[in-house]
Amino acid sequence: MAHKGILIVVSGFSGSGKGTVMKRLLEKYDNYALSVSATTRQPREGEREGREYFFKTGEEFEKMIAKDELIEYAKYVNHYYGTPRAYVERQLASGRDVILEIEVQGARKIKEKIPDTLLLFVTPPSAKELRRRLTERGTETPEVIEERMSRAAKEAESMDQYDYCIVNDALEECVEHIHQIVQSEHQRCFRNLAFMDHIREELKGE
Ligand code: 5GP
Repeated sequence: MAHKGILIVVSGFSGSGKGTVMKRLLEKYDNYALSVSATTRQPREGEREGREYFFKTGEEFEKMIAKDELIEYAKYVNHYYGTPRAYVERQLASGRDVILEIEVQGARKIKEKIPDTLLLFVTPPSAKELRRRLTERGTETPEVIEERMSRAAKEAESMDQYDYCIVNDALEECVEHIHQIVQSEHQRCFRNLAFMDHIREELKGE
């Protein structure tokens, strides 16, 4: 049964560990493709053009918007972030499940445009644990940690718009949960209309 890939949005608080979860998921299974976004923010240390992001000037980004080259885009902390259309469409057509790691406004826009999108929200088991993970990174000042905690409280208001809320307590377990959800999602009737028509026709001929 030939499947078209599933478009999967993964959101989560800064510090939820979703980046690590995605990395492990892609290492473990080869049916996933991770979309690389365009952004106008500056690269952080260690980030590479085309790997973490495609880094654009404001003007370049606005040209991409005008040419309808982005499926969605959002402004987040004074910078544009957007999902390039071509890669996503190509990967979906080839049957791979495409992951977009984007924030909640973008998730909402994608779901409106493409209702078949699967929305996953990754969260740590508790607020205390989120604070601990943000503090343990050792790279953030106390002000930044407070800012991220209050942004998390705001983002948590949108969690119930997602299809699944996945607790990232133990990494491997979380990766398996996500993979199982996606595998089950492939069996949903609405994703298999062509197959169902086909078997109905076959049965008529028996
Ligand atoms: P950061 O600057 O920390 O890499 O990302 C900031 C936020 O922007 C994260 O929540 C990230 O998931 C989100 N983001 C990254 N790419 C996109 C995108 O293409 N579209 C939208 N809407 N958000 C994105």
